[in-house]
Amino acid sequence: MDSANPLLEERPLPAFGRILPQHACPAIDSILDENRDLIKNLNPDPPNEASLLLPLEAAGSRLQEAFSPIQHLRAVCDSPEWREAYQASLQKITEYNTDLLHNKDLYGYFLKLREGEEWLGLPMPRQREVILSLRDYRLGGVHLPKEKKKRFAEIEQELATCCARFTDNVTDATGAWSLLLAEDARLEGMPAPYREMFRADAEAHGLDGWRISLMPPSVQAILTHANNRGLRHEVYVAYTTRASDQGPHAGKYDNTDLIEQILRLRYEQAQLLNFATIADHALATRMAETPSQVLDFLHDLIERAREQAKNEWQELREFARNELGLSEMRRWDQAWVRERLRISRYGLREAELKPFFAADATIQGMLDLAVDLFQLEISRRDDVATWHPDVRFYEIRDAGGELRGQFYLDPYARPHKHGGAWMGTCANRRRRETGAQPAVAYLTCNGSPPTADMPALFGHADVVTLFHEFGHGLHHMLTRVDCAGVSGIEGVEWDAVEWPSQWMENWCWEPEVLNRFARHYQSGQLLPEEMAGRLRDSRIFNAGLDLMRQLEFALFDFRLHLEYRPERGARVEELLAEVRREIGVMETPEFVRTAHSFEHIFSGGYTAGYYSYKWAEVLSGDTYAAFQEEGLFNKETAKRFADCVLSAGGVRPAAEMFRAFRGREPNPDALLRQMGLAA
Ligand SMILES: [Zn+2]
Repeated sequence: MDSANPLLEERPLPAFGRILPQHACPAIDSILDENRDLIKNLNPDPPNEASLLLPLEAAGSRLQEAFSPIQHLRAVCDSPEWREAYQASLQKITEYNTDLLHNKDLYGYFLKLREGEEWLGLPMPRQREVILSLRDYRLGGVHLPKEKKKRFAEIEQELATCCARFTDNVTDATGAWSLLLAEDARLEGMPAPYREMFRADAEAHGLDGWRISLMPPSVQAILTHANNRGLRHEVYVAYTTRASDQGPHAGKYDNTDLIEQILRLRYEQAQLLNFATIADHALATRMAETPSQVLDFLHDLIERAREQAKNEWQELREFARNELGLSEMRRWDQAWVRERLRISRYGLREAELKPFFAADATIQGMLDLAVDLFQLEISRRDDVATWHPDVRFYEIRDAGGELRGQFYLDPYARPHKHGGAWMGTCANRRRRETGAQPAVAYLTCNGSPPTADMPALFGHADVVTLFHEFGHGLHHMLTRVDCAGVSGIEGVEWDAVEWPSQWMENWCWEPEVLNRFARHYQSGQLLPEEMAGRLRDSRIFNAGLDLMRQLEFALFDFRLHLEYRPERGARVEELLAEVRREIGVMETPEFVRTAHSFEHIFSGGYTAGYYSYKWAEVLSGDTYAAFQEEGLFNKETAKRFADCVLSAGGVRPAAEMFRAFRGREPNPDALLRQMGLAA
């Protein structure tokens, strides 16, 4: 079947529409066979770019480019068949990757290249690639004796399986719960666009009435807008107990054992490599150097934000008591109370804002901003096959007409699509015989979809998410680095990856940016200046509470991976309780199981890395401050940012890139100012 396997076709882009789950394993098998042959016959003498790095890059890219649609389709068109295909492919690739890292001959070639005469002739990005490869060989266990190597490989396999099962449980638990309302009396307070979303969801399931699910737009809508407290409670319980021993599906998709297994395996792996803890192992590839550096960073932010967060919490409770008749505000009331206080303070209703953020116009506005800042051309192409009719495809060219990148944008939530939002790699930029292969990205969001009577409208939070993912996309696609291992976001320290994405978020709050695209979808009227101003001012609203929530996740994740010891187990709930006591602002109900659906840290690659969001936000806040100081649309500033960061891939440590852009060390004051916290 090889000749007919779309995953094996020489591609500029994957043949979406023709790729089926049954293509996955045969394609991966065939590529792995070829790659193993290539590696076996490799005899670089002397090892240099042509004899070693280019053949390995071609082999690695071919594998990555075949696997990326498999991984992506499992996330955006999930089905039992795709899960199986993904799992099986992942297992084969994990085995191959471990063999590669345990290959002493290969490691020897890299060492020889590093120490030989060819080294100084290597371009700087290639040197960096070699240095990172040598590090990865060491972290992959190349020095381990045979028995330990075997165990290391087994751990890699078991971890891959456990992490995938963790995500499957979350997806299944999310899909398993729904509530059908036969009449809309319980939806009192719900703005029309959301009612319409629930009605359309019922219709899509062949039902009459209003269907509430645990998809993110549905949960947010209920918690923020439903006046019916019982309904908010029901949704809150179902959502916060997903994949756990609590809630409506208690025990059915329970991740409790998987959490223990994942931690045990990670710990064993860290020990094999002589790291004291999982956190120490994780930091080996980060900007932050020691666990205490991360803990100090988090504790410091907690101290700085606690007072304000407490005041905000108190204010919400008082408002709930005095204005809304809630004598005791509970967590399922919080978003609803907050929205009401926001309305009373800023006169901004989510439902009034939403019509100004029609999906099409918002996406176009975001692209126009990038075009303006970085002198690009971005055009949509309708002749490219995708996996769903809602998906759009774009190309980015620079002023000289050079194709810099391409991306798919999948904007709306739908059944069988994983929640959240992310940027995924479809291809890394690299040099090929036929010319440069541009970087290709998948941008995935989960905004509410259009209905028969209404175009898709984003909430402002959806707009922020969209800009965030596009920021990752720019980092991936504007790269000028031709070496796949350090191009785009490859080779960038994990705790610096959120730098361009969070930088991009800032623009959604600027009236000067909003008045370029935020128009009422019916009247065409621009978002009134005064309303845009109030939106900007509202950015600091409850910023202390939001920050504390992120710090709670970050501190929990870091301590979990720092303090884990097999003899006492994960202590998940105890640890969460300790962290919440330290944060000391709001109470969390006993039944809540935060860890059980925390995909970032158990299956999303953020092991002891959730702090990265705040760590990188110091960089992004300080970067945006440069734009504020030098002029928001200052082309020089934008060019400097593109040159020093967006186009530079992982060729230098992020700390150096920051110094090159800002001319000094990063300073957290800009971030704290943005959040309304005294710097
Ligand atoms: Zn991100």
